[in-house]
Amino acid sequence: MQSLRFLFAALIPALLFSVALQAQASPENWCGTNIPRSDWMTKYQAGEFTPVGKSEDILYVPTRFIIVGKNDGSGYINPVRLLRAFELLNSDYEDMNIQFYIKDVDYLNRSSYYDYSSISTGNQMMSLNNNSNVINNYIVNTPITGNCGYYTPGLDALAISIDCISSSGDRTWGHEMGHLFNLDHTFYGWESVEEIANIELTERAPATINYNNRDILVERMDGSNCEDAADGFCDTAPDYLMQRWVCNDVQEYRDSLTDPDSIRFAVPGINIMSYVNNDCVEGFSEDQKTAMQTNLAARQISNDTGVDRVAANGDAMNLLLPVNNATLEVSDYVELVWNSVPNANYYIVQLNTSTNFNGTVLQSFIVSDTTAIIEDDLNTNTRYYWRVRPFNRYVFDSDFGDQKFRFKNGEFPTATIDAALNSAISVAPNPVSGGQELRINGRDLGQAGNMTYELIDAAGRILLSRENLNVNAAGFSERIETTGMPAGVYFLRIRLNEKLVTRRVVVTP
Ligand SMILES: [Zn+2]
Repeated sequence: MQSLRFLFAALIPALLFSVALQAQASPENWCGTNIPRSDWMTKYQAGEFTPVGKSEDILYVPTRFIIVGKNDGSGYINPVRLLRAFELLNSDYEDMNIQFYIKDVDYLNRSSYYDYSSISTGNQMMSLNNNSNVINNYIVNTPITGNCGYYTPGLDALAISIDCISSSGDRTWGHEMGHLFNLDHTFYGWESVEEIANIELTERAPATINYNNRDILVERMDGSNCEDAADGFCDTAPDYLMQRWVCNDVQEYRDSLTDPDSIRFAVPGINIMSYVNNDCVEGFSEDQKTAMQTNLAARQISNDTGVDRVAANGDAMNLLLPVNNATLEVSDYVELVWNSVPNANYYIVQLNTSTNFNGTVLQSFIVSDTTAIIEDDLNTNTRYYWRVRPFNRYVFDSDFGDQKFRFKNGEFPTATIDAALNSAISVAPNPVSGGQELRINGRDLGQAGNMTYELIDAAGRILLSRENLNVNAAGFSERIETTGMPAGVYFLRIRLNEKLVTRRVVVTP
């Protein structure tokens, strides 16, 4: 951790240098992984572990997204872009027969984790929120100021900036995942050079670089020290470029560098563990791949078989509630309901104020259920459009369904969702098994009055309605017979005077 703190201290001059040297570089171009060689890699390169070859079968690696937003739930990455970046990550690991799949998607609203400047904040986020036996990926806005992303070995988790996984072709995720599998930078050792701006890279390199209070050998062109110098792999070329750089038209650094033997050489701009620009990256070297395959095998988490690896079909998507063109009572709360699509493990829900979903949309998020509650951003007398894209946890290239439903939030302000009434009412048991009685109890309602309730199925049909019940402020008790009700999701809409409560009820077989 100490080395990461050091890196942050070194970032400001590094960034100034970067901007001065390369006009194309954005501030978000820095990998914050700057750690001593892992014990695992040290032993692996010393030959203590048997290298593991490419698996004959695809190894499916469980992966978790922790999508971080601000305290008010805004600022999340657009999940459409997230999936595109995840596909690119998988393409970087495809020829190793390693594929990442989505085991869990969680949302975390906390502004202090959305943008943070210190490794200790990131460590706190990870230690409080990591799950075990899965690769935890925190998708935040600023993972330590100036960074595109980093890997923390102590907590074995990645933090990646939204900006660096949203743009097409960004290889940050594949690079950070390489660190997770214990790979070092191809320019290992040069991360620690404090006076980066003063190093003249074209001059003869020193024999060693001081890194984390250790002397690290500088890799020589003749291959004499490649097993011990830099990243310890002999099939990654000498590389002293600790700043983001652009390759030229023959995919090399524009200047030749000079090794400790005064041999001039060109740095090839192809390796994903270097700092070459995304456009130039080809992937990993064979020795890096074997190391990652061996590290993955040691983790023993890729035990998934990939059964049900079938894309979900957007054409099978049917939106149910609110029915299309519905005018709803004014509410700050709308529940969207759609059908369950075969092979879909997750759904992307999008809500917008126009039918054009191509640009920025009002809301875009992932759920695993077939319902979603929209609680924010709803204005009265406003039309909203929504659509849903199903996707499979292994195969993400599905489409949105053609349907775009619209609803209008309120022509007649007759009822509002009422928090006090909501907390005064209990519906139990829930889930309820078919045939069992469902009890609706109200206690300390705060007011007497006229009550109505309706039971609605997932297609929006009213199955049962009780109207004009007189209840007193102390409470009430109602019972609903569930015999004959098919298993599924239902909604109970309760209105007391002008106050409204909706509850989701699940009937099990
Ligand atoms: Zn890195």
